[in-house]
Amino acid sequence: MSDPATHVAIIGGGYAGMAAAVTLAEQHVPVTVYEASTVLGGRARRVEINGVTLDNGLHILIGAYRETLRLIATVHPSPANALLRLPLDWYVHGHLHLRAPRLPAPLHLAAALLTAKGAPLRESWAAARMMRALRGTNFHLPRDTSVSALLKDHAQGQVLTQHLWMPLCVSALNTPPESASAQLFLNVLRDGLNADRAGSDMLIAREDLSTLFPEPAAAYVRARGGAVLTQRRATEIAPVSNTNGFQITAGDESRIFSHVICALPPHQVAAFLSGMVALSETIQTVQALEYQPITSVYLQFDGRVTLPSAMTGLSNGFAQWLFNREAICNQSGLIGAVISAKGPHQDLTQDVLAQRVRAELHEKFGPLPPLKWQRVISEKRATFSATPGLRRPPQQTPLRHFWLAGDYTASDYPATLEAAVRSGIACARGILGDTAAL
Ligand SMILES: Cc1cc2nc3c(=O)[nH]c(=O)nc-3n(C[C@H](O)[C@H](O)[C@H](O)COP(=O)(O)OP(=O)(O)OC[C@H]3O[C@@H](n4cnc5c(N)ncnc54)[C@H](O)[C@@H]3O)c2cc1C
Repeated sequence: MSDPATHVAIIGGGYAGMAAAVTLAEQHVPVTVYEASTVLGGRARRVEINGVTLDNGLHILIGAYRETLRLIATVHPSPANALLRLPLDWYVHGHLHLRAPRLPAPLHLAAALLTAKGAPLRESWAAARMMRALRGTNFHLPRDTSVSALLKDHAQGQVLTQHLWMPLCVSALNTPPESASAQLFLNVLRDGLNADRAGSDMLIAREDLSTLFPEPAAAYVRARGGAVLTQRRATEIAPVSNTNGFQITAGDESRIFSHVICALPPHQVAAFLSGMVALSETIQTVQALEYQPITSVYLQFDGRVTLPSAMTGLSNGFAQWLFNREAICNQSGLIGAVISAKGPHQDLTQDVLAQRVRAELHEKFGPLPPLKWQRVISEKRATFSATPGLRRPPQQTPLRHFWLAGDYTASDYPATLEAAVRSGIACARGILGDTAAL
């Protein structure tokens, strides 16, 4: 039997799968995306709560998310309005305020550190010295270690460790500093704080995360003849004998494709691929991953809540970051709080956790309007644990024409939208190279 004509199946319509689909559709390669849910976006998707449009988890992007921003600009009808862009302004209530002046990188960071409010000058100098030393090594460590060990090696002071480096590590890697990979952390510092000034900007979606990219991406793919199927869970995959193709079954329908990009969340990969002997090593690598949770707490007040900025850091409590949704996207009285990584909050019921976060808000910012409703969304396996020297499977697998996309695949970024998008693009480009050679 000859190989089926090029038609790529993409299993999973999260940011990775949709990035792959757009990149292939751009080159007029036929694609079909299978997405199990009714809504595209996966871990970064829209949810409706009490008639209000929210996200499954509060997300921030940084200016260094080059590929994510490029693809949003490719598919979004008005990309300039889709994201709120805030120049680096690190505000941890009552402890630290670091603001980058309009200078080219890395001077903007040095100036931000040296003028930081709340940090002793000797700590700011130690931080500036650490950044200079890291720049000298191009942010590369000969051997990976933990973020805590890295900070100790560079004699970082208590205030900046507690209110800058540690929260930055937990937000970016979703892993506590004592077990987080210093190399992955340095990659984020390299692109986020050192490369160019815009790289350190923080961007927050003014709309929900499905509208931001996966849905306009689906429109783009469909306009180029591709198919994006929601509520279509792929249940089986099997290589087609004597060809390099695969049969995908979804419900009671089976189709044959020349190539497959598996863009499932990592914890679902092993079960889906269990019959594929050629992938046993890949499956083992994915099975060895461990996970960290992220919890989002939404509090809807009956009236305006005034916070110091659109995104406010908190220390010494449960909430790590507060998002003022009124300042971001006109959702009056709505506050979102993020709690990344494992911690004591996991021992509380959702109602008690929401009450504690509300009490923290009251304690730090004074009287609040009456509460209309509260909702906690806990993603137990939000991301993999980004530990030192972690093995991540490459996008190209030992099985010809079978590719893996997702935030957990090999990347110098932690589990983020950018890692997901880059992995999807890498798969698509691999397939484009493959088909060009045919
Ligand atoms: C609460 C939370 C907060 C986060 N905050 C940030 C942040 O601030 N910044 C940041 O950059 N990143 C953040 N992340 C990480 C980011 O969301 C992920 O890295 C990214 O969304 C992963 O995309 P993905 O496409 O690799 O996987 P997923 O989003 O998991 O996509 C996989 C898709 O496959 C679908 N699927 C599953 N099984 C099947 C099947 N059998 N058939 C068809 N489809 C199937 C799923 O429904 C899903 O749509 C956060 C994650 C969470 C959970």
